[in-house]
Amino acid sequence: MAKVSSMPGEREWIEDLRSYCKSSSAVRLGIGDDCAILKLPRGSEILVTTDFTLETVHFRRDWHSPESVGHRCLARGLSDLAAMGAKPLAAFLSLALPPELVRGRTGQPSWRDRFFQGFLALADRCRVPLAGGDTAQSPRNPFGSPASTGWVLADIVLLGSAPHARAILRSGASPGDRIYVTGQLGGAAAELAQLAANPRSFRSYTAASPGESHPHLFPEPRLAVGAWLLKNRRAAAAIDISDGLSTDLDHLCKESGLSATVEAAAIPTHPLARKLPGETLHLALNGGEDYELLFTAASNVRIPRRIANVPVTCIGEMRPATSRKPRVLLIENTNGRKNARPLPPGGWEHYK
Ligand SMILES: [Mg+2]
Repeated sequence: MAKVSSMPGEREWIEDLRSYCKSSSAVRLGIGDDCAILKLPRGSEILVTTDFTLETVHFRRDWHSPESVGHRCLARGLSDLAAMGAKPLAAFLSLALPPELVRGRTGQPSWRDRFFQGFLALADRCRVPLAGGDTAQSPRNPFGSPASTGWVLADIVLLGSAPHARAILRSGASPGDRIYVTGQLGGAAAELAQLAANPRSFRSYTAASPGESHPHLFPEPRLAVGAWLLKNRRAAAAIDISDGLSTDLDHLCKESGLSATVEAAAIPTHPLARKLPGETLHLALNGGEDYELLFTAASNVRIPRRIANVPVTCIGEMRPATSRKPRVLLIENTNGRKNARPLPPGGWEHYK
């Protein structure tokens, strides 16, 4: 993992950060000039995605370690690239911090340093160079108590590449396609519930440790799965599950002009969600932030049970267009009988 040392001045700090940012064949010129210069692989298109990470909306400083905030900030953008089968080219980060998070206590890394340790550890692993961005001091919160300082605001821009006209879109599904998900669902929401119940116990989680699953604190973007699906032309349509299965499948249905059925019993649930028996299905359907992939493939296309070492499960089928809303039906087994009920989008939505 990259180590970023405590440095107070912005210029020195950027120099320090620059020395830890890996070069790559895609970035001809990275941090240090007015613009970055990227080289696009021949025959490719650029894919661009942006994501906010806002304190109190996406994380809480008293719940999440800075490493987790840095990891999640990058993981959200990488997951969008994964959903379209794109290869990451470069990341750009604009970060506003209150001044006390820039200065570490003597001998201790600052909040900012720890944020970048989490960010750069994932960037290294996913081979995405940080090629630029901006820093600013965030203003004091005028509506808070006298002690209230500014908030952490981060905006990440990720650029990826895909061969011309080959990116996997939400709109590519056809009636009869099977619907698949990667990994297990509901874990992130279940871990968030644990975090809310006992925030202090989680502040010590500063890195995703092998063999331990922290789907909320350290989600794993499914880049290798997306790349495999694109390379092997197996997926017709895809989306990442950032807002919850019910909401993201509805997005895919809308963009493809279709409806869908999902078998409740087929949905792979995360062990953390299964620890909450009354809520397991609800968490898996509506929890959000799992950052797994949801994709469709024609019924005659073979989809392996594991792709890039990630389990893949068939959970339903795309159906013809309908004027019915919700567009998704959930099929449940009750007393040996199959019942279909409408599944409204129940995941995360801003301004709701
Ligand atoms: Mg997305």
